[in-house]
Amino acid sequence: MQIRIEKLRVKLKKEKIDALLVNDPANRRYLSGFTGTAGSLLITQQDAMLVTDFRYTEQAEVEAADYEIIEFNDSKLEMLSQLINEQQIEILGFEAEHETYDQYLKYQDKLDLELKATKGLVKEIRKVKDQTEVTKIKEAVQITEEAFFEIQQSLQPGVIERDIAAELEFLLRKKGASGKSFDFIVASGKRSALPHGVASEKEIEVGDLVTIDFGCLYKGYCSDMTRTVVVGDGPTKKQKEVYYTVLEAQQESLKGIKAGVKASDVDQVARDIITKASYGDYFGHGLGHSVGLEIHEGPRLSPKDDTVLEPGMVLTVEPGIYLPDWGGVRIEDIVVVTEDGCQVLNKFNKELIVV
Ligand code: ZN
Ligand code: ZN
Repeated sequence: MQIRIEKLRVKLKKEKIDALLVNDPANRRYLSGFTGTAGSLLITQQDAMLVTDFRYTEQAEVEAADYEIIEFNDSKLEMLSQLINEQQIEILGFEAEHETYDQYLKYQDKLDLELKATKGLVKEIRKVKDQTEVTKIKEAVQITEEAFFEIQQSLQPGVIERDIAAELEFLLRKKGASGKSFDFIVASGKRSALPHGVASEKEIEVGDLVTIDFGCLYKGYCSDMTRTVVVGDGPTKKQKEVYYTVLEAQQESLKGIKAGVKASDVDQVARDIITKASYGDYFGHGLGHSVGLEIHEGPRLSPKDDTVLEPGMVLTVEPGIYLPDWGGVRIEDIVVVTEDGCQVLNKFNKELIVV
């Protein structure tokens, strides 16, 4: 954690902030290793403190070894105020994207210093993953693929989408995941035209395209994977045509990913292929997003994001085509950006399969 703290300190210096108060759960975990759900980090140029209550002190001592663990009794804010005075902190940064306005008013009332709103200081550092993070994401992806392999046999006509989602979650947990990384999308038939069609009561029918978008949490890190299959009978000519357009867009954009390339340019690769096949109006979302402690992180592979890719960024690549009143196809893998390309973490088949 020391390297992460040092990176933050460089940013604090630049921003002329004496200390940063970290309450965002993902940022807190990233900077300290602490997995508890209550506690504040207070990070200065010299010190790194974790303020929490008696329920978590023991756990914090173990998990956040680089931090001085400070237990408060009645009021965390009073303890913070005391520490701030002791440390002679004059400018305190807080996480504008996380704190509520109510919380801000309380800080103003109780803390005798200048408050400075910060945005994305820690998230910026989180954009590039280190080896330990990549390893956890790899394992999350592996669990996800094993679960998908097993769920295929349940994709039968008459089965309800929601039951597939429930079974998937069970499989993921059985394989070591601590939970799901988001509400699964199981969208069959015409519903597969909904890019975010959360599993419903609909029965899967013969000939349906079924899009399954799901992922797990493993040691705090998320996976995210989508496959689209045909159930029972098919595929039809049109299903094949749409599917292989999406697959080509996915594979070509994978080839376009490497350090130094702009995120928006990778999105463009997929968009051009889909547009050329005359489905340009039906790919209504960005090509992908970063994944880490949270399911949607920056940068994004989108027309609006000009971030230059760096080695160690972990991104999804998930083009799709969604035709109203017909259905849709999406294929999603996770990759790690390298100096001269990318490593695709998924191994699962991407040919159109009939289950
Ligand atoms: Zn997904
Ligand atoms: Zn995704």
